[in-house]
Amino acid sequence: MSKSKEIKSELVTRPPVVVIMGHIDHGKSTLLDYIRKSNVVAGEAGGITQKLSAYEVTHPDEHKVDRKITFLDTPGHEAFSKMRARGTKTADIAILVVSAEDSVKAQTIEAWETIVASGIPYIVAINKIDKPGANVEKTKLDLAEKGIYLEGFGGDVPFAEISAKQGTNVDGLLDLILLVADLNNFTGDASLPASGVVIESHLDPKRGIAATLIIKNGTIKKGDFLVVEDSIVGTRIIENFLGKPITEATFSSPIHMTGFDKQPHVGSSFNVYGSKKEAETAAREWNELKRELTGKAELPQATSAEIKLVPLIIKSDVAGMLDAIEKEVRKIELPNSKFKILEMSVGAIGEGDIRKASSDKESIIVGFNVKLDPRAVDLNEKEHVTVQTFDIIYKLTDFLKEEIYNRRPRITTLEPSGSAKIIRVFSATKDKQVVGGKVIDGLMTNDSQVRILRRENEIGRAHIVELQHNKLKIKAVEAGMEFGMQIESKYEIAAGDVIEAFTIVEK
Ligand code: GDP
Repeated sequence: MSKSKEIKSELVTRPPVVVIMGHIDHGKSTLLDYIRKSNVVAGEAGGITQKLSAYEVTHPDEHKVDRKITFLDTPGHEAFSKMRARGTKTADIAILVVSAEDSVKAQTIEAWETIVASGIPYIVAINKIDKPGANVEKTKLDLAEKGIYLEGFGGDVPFAEISAKQGTNVDGLLDLILLVADLNNFTGDASLPASGVVIESHLDPKRGIAATLIIKNGTIKKGDFLVVEDSIVGTRIIENFLGKPITEATFSSPIHMTGFDKQPHVGSSFNVYGSKKEAETAAREWNELKRELTGKAELPQATSAEIKLVPLIIKSDVAGMLDAIEKEVRKIELPNSKFKILEMSVGAIGEGDIRKASSDKESIIVGFNVKLDPRAVDLNEKEHVTVQTFDIIYKLTDFLKEEIYNRRPRITTLEPSGSAKIIRVFSATKDKQVVGGKVIDGLMTNDSQVRILRRENEIGRAHIVELQHNKLKIKAVEAGMEFGMQIESKYEIAAGDVIEAFTIVEK
């Protein structure tokens, strides 16, 4: 084992990296645009023409000291899921945007569940407060009903009431971001070589394969070598997020690099080395370990689910409307559920409809420009079929989207979140062992479940009970880092084994 270098830790506060999530049309892009236009360092903002996948702003804190904040400007959910799949953690804080006009929607909850699962702190931004139809109090109640308890509303989730379009109280939101960052004490060590995550990559027709990366720790300097998986890039040209050449960058800045020999995966981690030789060794090691890992026993799935069909009855005042609604309904489907139209007919929602629907307790009846027959109302007191009437098509389809989302079968899967190679076993008692190793991929987190792989076969499961890096207890170690680990297992772990951490994810 290579002796781990004695690096004196010089931890300092680093700027937070923020991701914005929420239901479609609730104002994520508008908010990102507003913050970028009003807060990117003066003089630079004007020059932005290309779409940025991340940007940096400054905002004064409570002591009037200018502080940096990095925003990810990639579609929140997608970025998140890719990074989670690779076990990297790019964002430090999430903003959950909820429109005060539409209140909580299916994707609001989906985004919230993703944020909570990733364990990062979050802030709720109640948006569109300028709109005549805005109802902030109702939105807060709806959030509480779903288990999102805001400060002063039975919980401690910080929130800001804003208008992203007019910029109202966006400063207040930025204040909150800095407060949350201070509470969570995000730190980095600028004396280390940089490491971080790829957030975007593309082929530039003139310059070759390019990527945007976020530095999560350390410093990158001109002349260093950057390694993503087994791809090495020289740093003759480092650019900041505006595409301006720079000679050095540190956490939590976005940087833009060109010259990869293959397109790096979004969500992959990167490390920086001072010499080409070290970079080549790292790339080779990655390759070797990856080869060991591929072809290994597939991660078994806990459960799987089939496509679920949700019975639907559609009623309308005119036949032409039924066709239009049917077309819209056909578009609504989730990977594992869709509607099965039992009936479409003209007229009020009657007893017969309720009866027909009641055979499946998940059925839905929607009416467009029609009412519910009083006898149907009576019958439904007993049957409890979901019935809703509308006079605006998109409200009807929004309702159905949300209902199908609520009825979708939950799939529980085991998702790998990181793997590591065991380099040394220090001690072993009956069911506890102390081992040392190096993270190959993703993240190893304390208190996680792992499977032990020997020559590509699973020999058993184990539980990480303590993690150390440079002799300090630590919550997680990232790709490239060496660690010491106390692990609980009935199986004897040996040098050369690979351990793979996984999380149980419900979708
Ligand atoms: P996204 O899908 O979440 O990125 O939503 P967008 O930012 O594209 O916003 C959807 C629509 O809502 C656009 O027409 C915006 O102009 C509008 N919008 C967003 N924020 C506000 C706001 O605070 N007030 C008002 N009145 N409209 C807003």
